[in-house]
Amino acid sequence: MPHDTPLLSTLAIGLVLAFAFGTLATRLRLPPIAGYLLAGVAAGPFTPGFVADPELSKELSEIGVILLMFGVGLHFSIKDLLAVRRIAIPGAIVQIAVATLMGMGVSHFLGWSLGSGLIFGLSLSVASTVVLLRALEERQMVESRRGRIAVGWLIVEDLLMVMALVILPALAGPLGGQAEAQGNNSLVLELGLTALKVGAFIALMLVVGRRAIPWLLARVVRTGSRELFTLATLAIAMGIAYGSAALFGVSFALGAFFAGVVLNESELSHDAAENSLPLREAFAVLFFFSVGSLFDPEILLEQPWAILATVAVIVFGKSIAAALIVLAYRRPLSVALTIAASLAQIGEFSFILASLGLSLKLLDQGAHDLILAAAIISIILNPLLFHGIDLLQPWMERREGRRLVNVKGKHAPELDDDELDTGAQQGHLVLVGYGRVGRYICERLDDMGPPLLVIADEPEHVTALRQKGLKAILGNATQEKVLARAKLPEARALLLAIPNGFEAAEIARRARELAPGLHILARAHHDDEIRHLENHGVDEVIMGEREIAHGMFRYLGLERPGEHEAEPQRAPRPSGAGS
Ligand code: AMP
Repeated sequence: MPHDTPLLSTLAIGLVLAFAFGTLATRLRLPPIAGYLLAGVAAGPFTPGFVADPELSKELSEIGVILLMFGVGLHFSIKDLLAVRRIAIPGAIVQIAVATLMGMGVSHFLGWSLGSGLIFGLSLSVASTVVLLRALEERQMVESRRGRIAVGWLIVEDLLMVMALVILPALAGPLGGQAEAQGNNSLVLELGLTALKVGAFIALMLVVGRRAIPWLLARVVRTGSRELFTLATLAIAMGIAYGSAALFGVSFALGAFFAGVVLNESELSHDAAENSLPLREAFAVLFFFSVGSLFDPEILLEQPWAILATVAVIVFGKSIAAALIVLAYRRPLSVALTIAASLAQIGEFSFILASLGLSLKLLDQGAHDLILAAAIISIILNPLLFHGIDLLQPWMERREGRRLVNVKGKHAPELDDDELDTGAQQGHLVLVGYGRVGRYICERLDDMGPPLLVIADEPEHVTALRQKGLKAILGNATQEKVLARAKLPEARALLLAIPNGFEAAEIARRARELAPGLHILARAHHDDEIRHLENHGVDEVIMGEREIAHGMFRYLGLERPGEHEAEPQRAPRPSGAGS
């Protein structure tokens, strides 16, 4: 092992191991974060083999925290939060309080100090954005109503944790940890000073930063150099994080978060987010790696009961509390369970809190290891929870369908049985997805053309369709049972108007099995998707981007005569596609 290049070897081995374990985790259908953490454990001082330089990997993880928090700030959306504020704000606050108390209960049982208990409880109360977004994305739920509630809920959690990160150092002394450097100041003075520094920093960011940063970025864009733009984004993130810590004594995390929030306001925020993504991802991975490398697996043997109790708080305590809150707001059981499962894990914020606790001497290494062990276990268990909900889904849908009728009376027909009558409906069209594309199709078909049956996976869509007098089935079209109800063998065509090409391919494959002669159309965004769809039995793939280009040409009158009409739907067949 070349010991003269510790930074290089930590980086190289960190990335290689994280990649290997991350791939393995994905193979096992686990969230990749579990893999990154385990890669860290493998490279830690407590397991044989390579040992990552602890000082260096700690510093690398600080960069990871900065970039993670920058990302949180970049995606922080007041609008998203306001859209679900009525349930998300009280929900998150109550749930954090309940979970923190449960964590403090466990800590009391283990004989820890109040300060330890508080940090321990807080770190169990906050879910990981990374894990949650992955889980929702995998199920195409980010944009759904329940997905939005979960994300809004998480935004509130994140905000509260950002506040906790600011306040905890000031509270460290009275809570029995190591007070800040100022010495024997009273608690009130400590808190006052912190509030003053943080206030000054936030005011500076909101007054000066909010104008200066978008202005600066706009200037950089005019140079036409993408490299400079990326560099500007990173300079803003790292510069503000570092500068705020050096000048105001504010944590890196808070500085980076505000750098993101301020950038978020700019029209260029989307580009900034996109350009900085690869670096943010790489360092986030190194962050998880380094957290893992601090973990001493011996705790699994030494304190199995404590681990079990901690996992129970995260996986059951916290999620049951969340589910009850959602139900109290009279949301359906399936929504409550989805939100509960989304929150039944802990991740980056817990690690950030735990390492703050360590450095303030509020938390001891044992408690830190406990948080880590429980985090790894909860992340591994998370997909299983979602799977459990999937199994309950048909039952819940039936139940909710019935409830909806009871609530809304005759106007909302039962949500789940809208099959077509055989015979009369020969030659109908089956449309999957009632979103940006599906809506247009329905509009056009309203009063002319063949009968239409829509498969949509959002209850609101199904209700809306039925109010318009259209036939709709509630469910995910990748499921055999759902597809089977659409009477595909008698249909004229199947229109896959969902954005995910790979999911559409899966639907096409199954539809082909049910109806070999069916005409299947799908939409796509990339050449790869076109190929994939065609290989799975789609007859015509319409690529959105290409149609937009056509539209622009048509608008300019530059289209060659008859071009669009002559070949209305055929996407360019990629050469060499397995035909
Ligand atoms: P958009 O992304 O705006 O085009 O909307 C697509 C719509 O299709 C969304 O409302 C999704 O919930 C819905 N959708 C996506 N996948 C499926 C599926 N497999 N089955 C039924 N509906 C789906």
